[in-house]
Amino acid sequence: VNRRSQPRRYVSSSYTGPTSTARRRAASRRRRTRRLLTTSFTVVLLAGVGVAAWYLIAGRGTGEADATDTASGGQPQTVALETSPSPQASASKSAATKSPSPSSEEGATFSGTHVPILMYHRIEETTVTGDNAAYFCSPKRLAQHVKALKDAGYTAVTLQQVYDYWHNGGTLPEKPVVLSFDDGTSGIADNGGPVLRKYGWPGVLSVIVPNINDSGGSLSMTPTQIRTLIDDGWELDSHSMTHPNLTTVNADRLRYELEESRRRLQEQFDQPVNFFCYPGGAHNAAVMAAAQAAGYLGATTVVRGAADPDMPYQLDRIEVDGRWVPKTLLRDLEYWQQNP
Ligand SMILES: [Zn+2]
Repeated sequence: VNRRSQPRRYVSSSYTGPTSTARRRAASRRRRTRRLLTTSFTVVLLAGVGVAAWYLIAGRGTGEADATDTASGGQPQTVALETSPSPQASASKSAATKSPSPSSEEGATFSGTHVPILMYHRIEETTVTGDNAAYFCSPKRLAQHVKALKDAGYTAVTLQQVYDYWHNGGTLPEKPVVLSFDDGTSGIADNGGPVLRKYGWPGVLSVIVPNINDSGGSLSMTPTQIRTLIDDGWELDSHSMTHPNLTTVNADRLRYELEESRRRLQEQFDQPVNFFCYPGGAHNAAVMAAAQAAGYLGATTVVRGAADPDMPYQLDRIEVDGRWVPKTLLRDLEYWQQNP
């Protein structure tokens, strides 16, 4: 009781009471003053930063305008940064060098080994349900996939570019991905072509050779459609003559499927046709040896994974379910890159 009452008595005594109130008031005033000073300082600081930023932007803008006026046909921005003697311009130059700029992104190249190859089939709307629906990717969905890939930093490349990176000292963009399309149906050209064209991206078309005809059906492609894709930078590859299971055919038939399909495509479209796509993914040692003997530099499977430079005749792919939302595609892609 005594211990409890003592502080209360001390605080409430007539002598210490007014003093503590005055102290509290004084402390409150000091806090207000401090708060006011801090706020003022912050305002002044922000204003200073703002003015400095304005000078930098204005200085660079002026430099660009001057260079555009004086330079004849050169790149205005480069000229401005190199010739302007003003400190503002050199400040913005060093800032531009340090921060990641579009040009440094373009310059970044791939230094890994395995490259992901996406596998698509038909690019069209469908009423098909069940497992087969996975083979159909609507034009709208493909556009979402491609945009998501682009936004995630990927750049589409061809199998030839990948091969040249692996074996011929070629370079690849920082995050390469191959977009391969199997079989050769008209939706790939009519619907897929424009989607990739928008980004200047190439696709890889692996076609069953007799699918190329002028019948105009959705299950075939016309030579004109194929030439349009080639003009867009697409790579034309073989997917055999009759799409058999190559592990079950005899040696003559195996050679025919591999060699005749390649020869016809080379002749008709004047393309190298350096890669083969195993029908149904079926392959074994004999099929791989025959593909090599037919002059192909590599061949793609349907085994899930990222393509391995040490296994050119067993290039794994990531089969895309045409119904996937972009998030699922990116998640799958990242997974196989981390676990090739
Ligand atoms: Zn196929």
